[in-house]
This record gives sequence, C-alpha cells and structure tokens, in this order.
Amino acid sequence: MSVRVRIAPSPTGNLHIGTARTAVFNWLFARHQGGKFILRVEDTDLERSRPEYTQNILDGLTWLGLTWDEGPVFQSQRLDLYKQAIQTLLNQGLAYRCYTTSAELDELRANQRANHQAPRYDNRHRDLTPEQEAAFVAEGRTPVIRFKIADEREVAWQDMVRGKVSWKASDLGGDMVIARAAEDGIGQPLYNLAVVVDDIDMAITHVIRGEDHIGNTPKQILLYEALGVKVPEFAHTPLILNKAGQKLSKRDGVTSISDFQQMGYTAEALTNYMTLLGWSPPDSTQEIFNLEGAAQLFGFERVNKAGAKFDWDKLNWINGQYLHKMSPEELLARLIPYWQAGGYQFDPTSDRLWLEQLVALIGASLNRLEEAVAMSRTFFASEIIEYNPEAAAQLQQPGMKAVIQAIVTAWEKQPELTPDGAQEIIKLVMKEQNLKKGVVMRSLRSALMGEVHGPDLIQSWLLLHQKGLAVPRLQQALSKEF
Ligand code: GLU
Repeated sequence: MSVRVRIAPSPTGNLHIGTARTAVFNWLFARHQGGKFILRVEDTDLERSRPEYTQNILDGLTWLGLTWDEGPVFQSQRLDLYKQAIQTLLNQGLAYRCYTTSAELDELRANQRANHQAPRYDNRHRDLTPEQEAAFVAEGRTPVIRFKIADEREVAWQDMVRGKVSWKASDLGGDMVIARAAEDGIGQPLYNLAVVVDDIDMAITHVIRGEDHIGNTPKQILLYEALGVKVPEFAHTPLILNKAGQKLSKRDGVTSISDFQQMGYTAEALTNYMTLLGWSPPDSTQEIFNLEGAAQLFGFERVNKAGAKFDWDKLNWINGQYLHKMSPEELLARLIPYWQAGGYQFDPTSDRLWLEQLVALIGASLNRLEEAVAMSRTFFASEIIEYNPEAAAQLQQPGMKAVIQAIVTAWEKQPELTPDGAQEIIKLVMKEQNLKKGVVMRSLRSALMGEVHGPDLIQSWLLLHQKGLAVPRLQQALSKEF
C-alpha cells in the first residue's frame, strides 16, 4: 500500500502555524514512507472562505518548502461527488430527511439544558412514514439530511499518536446533519461528509491532523463504514500552546506564517522549529536539521501526546543559527528587501561592497532578518543624527568634547582611515587626555552613532566614513550644546 496523506486547510484565514505544523508532519511522513503529500482546499464555507486566504496558504506552503505532489483540489468544485454519496446513503436507508425546524431544535435544547442533559438531536424524524413526510413538505418545511448514528455503538481506533481512542456513539449528539436544507433535495454538504468522501476519493491512507479534530473522527469512521470502505489510519497531532498553556490563537499575536516571514524568520528555521513542536528526533540533542534530514528520521512513535508550548526564545535561537551560517552574499540578498521596506536609500549594485561589510558587521548579532533594520539605521541615516539619552549624557560629561576634538585632530594627520590607523588614533587620544580606553570608545561611539551600544566600533567607524558620514557626525557632536 503506498502512503497518501493530505493537508486540508480551510481558506478562512491566513496559513496558521498550527496548520503549517500539521503540514510539516504530513510532509515528513509522506517523504519518510516514500508516499504522496496532497493539498486539498476545504472551501465549502462560502461565507468565510476568501480567495486571498487560499493564495496566502499556497504561498506559505510553497515558501516553507512543503511542496505537494497532487492538488490543490478544491472542495467547492466537487459538490456533485458529495451529493452522490449522500444519495447513496439515502438510498440505503442510512440517512434520511429531517424536517425539524430550528425553533423545534431550540426548544429541544432548552429542555435538555433544563434537565442538565448534554445537547443532542433526539432522532425524532428517523422513521417518518411517507404520509408524515408529505405533511411536513405540505407545511413548506425544507429538510436537512441526517446520517443515522446507532447509539449503542462504540467507535474505536488505534491512533498513531494517542494509542487506542474510543467513543460511545451515544456521545456524538444524535443523528448527524450531513447536508443543509434545500428546496430541490440535497443542499450544501457539510464538513464531516465532505472530508470523508474526499479522503476516500483521493485514496488517503493516513489522516494526520490536529487534535482539535478528534471529536470528528468517530463520526467520520461511521461514515466510512456506511460507505463500505476501509477506514484509514489516524494521527491526531498535539496542539500548539501559548505560554499560559492554552491553544495558540490570534489573540497571542503572531500566528500566521506570512507574519513570521515578515518578521524575518527564514523558511528553513521555521520548518526546523515546527518539526520540533511535538516531535523529537531519536538523538534528542539534535536540534538543527532540514526537512529532508528530518524526513529520514520521522515517525509518529516520537510524536508527543501533550500539547507543544510555543517557545519564542528557541525559535529565535534556531533562526539565529541559520542566519549565522549563511554566506554574507546570501544574507545580504535576504536583508536588502527589509532595508528597502525600512525606507533606507542605497543602491544594491554600486553599494554592494559596502553592504557586504555591513552584513559582516551585524550578521552575527542577528536572530531575525527584520532586526537588521533597527540595527543598521545609523549606517543609512543622514549626517545629522539624534542622540539617545545615554549617548547625550556621555557627550555632556566634562572633557568629552575635548576627546572628540582630539580624535578629529589626530585623524586629520592620517591620509586614510584604516583599522590599524583607527586604533592608533584611539591610543593617542587615551594618552593625550589621560583617559581609559572605554571612555574614549564610548564617547566616539556616542558621537558617531548616537548610541552607546552597537557593533564593533572600529568597523562601524570605517563604514560610516566610507559613506562620508563620520566626519560630519564628529563635527555635529562638537558644535552641539548637550
Ligand atoms: N479543514 C480542516 C481544518 O482546516 C482540516 C480537516 C482535516 O484535516 O480533516 O482544520
């Protein structure tokens, strides 16, 4: 049997990290087994589905490298298939038309609530006579279609993550609606029915999806049985939790893959991190691997049952690992769009050498690409700079203007600024002003960059000088009243 798995996102929002992680597990399993990974877009909820969300999902999966072998298949284009299956169930007496009105259902629920019973449909129209049906139709009622659920059944499966799971059919809420009401017979098919019909049609062998779907699985198993086909294997993957241990949701801020992308996480680091959200490799000290590497090791025996806490520090660390081992050219190529979006003026071609030096200067401190915007602002800024309070306080101290003046004077004697020459200037000023190196460096940094912390000062000085920014900034510090 060749393995066929699928990811089945609903385009009712951007690609969510939970869906993407489920896609990672599906992809890894398919690759490990030499099987196929299929993409199905579950766009039957016409009110909430949007083409821009579909696009965001396809772009996100592509960006992450989760290439699919078949699809995308769109549920909205397959309504006939679902209706045929519903008709088959009706013909076999496994489903029926239910004429209960929503007012009647509300009343039923209210009674159940009053009696402290769980809400469920009481199957009241399961065995209507043709005369009763005709009377409801004559009243102008439009029926939904319900699938019969035998209350006495127990539905069990061997979950690849959770082991044996079993449900009493009596806990499934009574006969289940599989199609909405429609004048002309069968209305819009509903979720559980469409999923099962698709999974059968697409010959899915393993349904790997989030734990939030576990309550649907017994209903779906009953549908498989009713449709007379083999039930696939199921794996319900642990939820991704926030710090407080609740399901990660939009309220937690960033949850969609395009947001992570924008913040400067690389696709490689993000898939690496998602792989570890609920799975651990046999060598649990191994933390860095690409999709192909993880696919060789992946199996559900090492997927946790417990929810996986989302850990920003770990994601940042992993992302940093990827950024730090990139070549300067590659890192530069990835940073250029962020600097451009930050509104910085530069020419990627003629400024290339300078940009590469800048990358070499800040690259090792980056954990996210977007951080480069703030980190390199001073290098792209105009001659005039703002001083942050610490830098202003530094330059305000008695004798610090003299330090800057001494630097300017010593520098004037040098034909060209080199790293060694810059060191010489600092040494000379230390001696001349009888000051510690730290004080001279801190003042110089404050004057050049308007900040007291930052990347290597000598390199920064050189880079600013290459842009013609160093001399004017020293002059500005000298002429400014702090
Ligand atoms: N469309 C469902 C979702 O986005 C997935 C259904 C499934 O995997 O069976 O949550």
